[in-house]
Amino acid sequence: MKIHEYQAKEVLRKFGIRTPKGGPAFSVEEALEVAKSLGGPVWVVKAQIHAGGRGKGGGVKLARSLDEVRQHASAILGMRLVTHQTGPEGQIVKRLLIEEGADIKHEYYVSILTDRATQKVAVLASSEGGMEIEEVAAKTPEKILKAFIDPIVGFPDEEAERLARGIGIPEASVPAAVDTLKKLYTCYMETDASLAEINPLILEGDGGIKALDAKFNFDDNALFRHPEIVAYRDLDEEDPDEVEASKYGLSYIALDGNIGCLVNGAGLAMATMDTIKLFGGEPANFLDVGGGATTEKVTAAFKIMLRNPKVKGILVNIFGGIMRCDTIANGVVAAAREVQLNVPLVVRMKGTNEDIGKKILAESGLPIISAETMADAAQKIVAAVSAAH
Ligand code: ADP
Ligand code: MG
Repeated sequence: MKIHEYQAKEVLRKFGIRTPKGGPAFSVEEALEVAKSLGGPVWVVKAQIHAGGRGKGGGVKLARSLDEVRQHASAILGMRLVTHQTGPEGQIVKRLLIEEGADIKHEYYVSILTDRATQKVAVLASSEGGMEIEEVAAKTPEKILKAFIDPIVGFPDEEAERLARGIGIPEASVPAAVDTLKKLYTCYMETDASLAEINPLILEGDGGIKALDAKFNFDDNALFRHPEIVAYRDLDEEDPDEVEASKYGLSYIALDGNIGCLVNGAGLAMATMDTIKLFGGEPANFLDVGGGATTEKVTAAFKIMLRNPKVKGILVNIFGGIMRCDTIANGVVAAAREVQLNVPLVVRMKGTNEDIGKKILAESGLPIISAETMADAAQKIVAAVSAAH
């Protein structure tokens, strides 16, 4: 799960990391109120969307008077902000962060993330803050320093000092930088984050260290123990189909192809997508209906898949273990009727009550193409979709 910058800064402050003073605003009036309470003389008006690169896209503006705060706030609120992370369709700005302007002497980059390869926590730091870290990694990889932390041992002071000195933090500010790095590590661990990034982390004119931007990814599987983070969720920033799917307990990810897939179990869903590709087709989505698929769930799954105009055919691939094939068959028939299915539908089901399930499909009077093996199913749906073109 992702959160907005102003929320991320609230999290950082809870862990004692310094940030500019500021607050969120949902309207131009609110923006002016926040600006007045901060006092100036310099404010920054920042678009709040779940994507980076806002500065370059025109979503971060400096204001030197309340009048300029008003101008920038009205220009940014409601704008379609396009950055390299939003894709060409951009993202509509509905929230702002109004904060005090910082006295920037240098911009650094720091982040903490889970490193699966070493099974450790990686701390990355660079002198090249404010830029995209991917760009630094591609052009000047030697400017990214790394420390791999064993979570049992924790983040040793010497490692934090090595990073701070290595990226060029002046000696007088090294203790403050070490303190910030260690607090960020604690924050990352205690919030079950998979990424905690500060870009830029700044050195101020007076030698202070501050987080000027903040980004978190939280492990969805650990959200149950962080209600305070779940409360930050902003559904406007998420794919509406994925939000709808999550209401029904479906795991759904939209993809670029034209064959909708409805499968039970993530492993089988991956294998189904591979098989479709093997026979020259392209899946339109990943969709795992999970273990306890009811008729209601299957109907919701059909509706979500079909809302994607690219879908030209559907493949249902079910293994009936705990879930019985007849339940799925009833769900498929009900769903196909309710949505007035008008694209080819191939169904392959194996396992518990397979025969009853097949009978239900055959007797439904619907033009369902049944298949025996995965290869058979994939070939049939690929053929049906190309014939329809
Ligand atoms: P993004 O990464 O989405 O472009 P940032 O929050 O990193 O957004 O802002 C982009 C740049 O704007 C920063 O690198 C910094 O130079 C400047 N900036 C951001 N916040 C402030 C602030 N409070 N005071 C002064 N400059 C800022
Ligand atoms: Mg940034």
